[in-house]
Amino acid sequence: MLKTAAGIGRIGTESAFEVLARAKALEARGRSVINLGIGQPDFQTPENVVEAAVKALRDGHHGYTPANGIPELRRAVADDLRQRLDVEVDPDLILVVPGGKVTMFFAVLMFGEAGAEVLYPNPGFPIYESIIAYSGARAVPIPLLEENGFAFSAEDVLSRITPATRLIILNSPANPTGGVTPRAEVDKLVEGLANHRDVAILSDEIYGRMLYDGRRHVSLLQYPKIRDRLILLDGWSKTYAMTGWRLGFGLWPKALIDGATRLAINCHSCVNAPAQYAGIEALTGPQRAVDEMVAAFDARRKVIVAGLNRIPGLSCVTPGGAFYAFPNIGATGIGAKEMETGLLEEAGVATVAGTSFGRHGEGYLRLSYANSIENIQAAMTRMGDWLAARQGR
Ligand code: PLP
Repeated sequence: MLKTAAGIGRIGTESAFEVLARAKALEARGRSVINLGIGQPDFQTPENVVEAAVKALRDGHHGYTPANGIPELRRAVADDLRQRLDVEVDPDLILVVPGGKVTMFFAVLMFGEAGAEVLYPNPGFPIYESIIAYSGARAVPIPLLEENGFAFSAEDVLSRITPATRLIILNSPANPTGGVTPRAEVDKLVEGLANHRDVAILSDEIYGRMLYDGRRHVSLLQYPKIRDRLILLDGWSKTYAMTGWRLGFGLWPKALIDGATRLAINCHSCVNAPAQYAGIEALTGPQRAVDEMVAAFDARRKVIVAGLNRIPGLSCVTPGGAFYAFPNIGATGIGAKEMETGLLEEAGVATVAGTSFGRHGEGYLRLSYANSIENIQAAMTRMGDWLAARQGR
């Protein structure tokens, strides 16, 4: 009998990938499935970005790069942060990694161990809770509530800090809710965190460019008071439709960058070189493709929210960012997992149960609107018909 380490028994997963596999299996058997499950843009990576990677390969960039990323890329990230957020950043504090998830993993490994507590959003990206559990730390949920637009409440977050709290994970705009925490609330939170100087903050801002109705991104990076203990997570996956390239970055405090870089050297050595050259082109080249993608998501957002609110038993607050709708399904009397399974297998619509994002997701369903308006409309019809049949109407 093999004896594995205890942590591996505690690690969770991301159900969206399981839904995707089940949807693909149904499609392979000839069934029509509309995929509103997986969280990835349905656009292609912009052509100029693809060309930059091809050129990098042709130019001979086949070897290891510096573990923290090629200097031109880290400079491009720093320039982008200055232009977008009006903040000065030292490129030597940037660690380029294979996807946003890696910054999350490293941050939790750096602070999580038995006896420590880590606060994380719930419902939230499922990997937060999973890695905290793996690390041996206690995962302390921060419930995000519909009546609050799924935004963080500063008072609530601060009330959960104990002497054992080492790290707080924040995410706005958020997966799975599309919730956006307003600046006034972030101001209050940072004010309160001034009294907790031994607590680190991981701010997952991977959807920072996907905002609607004229909202501007509020980055934790804009608060000098917490810069010495802030880890910023961002990347190219969502903004530039580059999920499969595996390219992200963390901006680390001076005191932590060496530890993070060592984790990278121990884990993956460096990110593949052509992806890094593509990342430079993405940041420094024309941004029209990003604007067009966000405009397309905005149009789809309006269609999906209106469609969901027309279905008896469902109600959906309008998400302010990302590309997810998170309707309340409580009035149907059907549990989230049961609805996910029924919609996939009987109605041919892939969604993800709210419970896949933590226990506070019960009574909700996540729908990714990274799909065409025609498909979203067809999915709404299928969902409405399925629910009507289930409820004998
Ligand atoms: N953070 C959040 C909130 C996400 O939703 C995702 C991906 O779905 C990630 C991080 C990870 O992104 P990546 O694919 O770059 O690892």
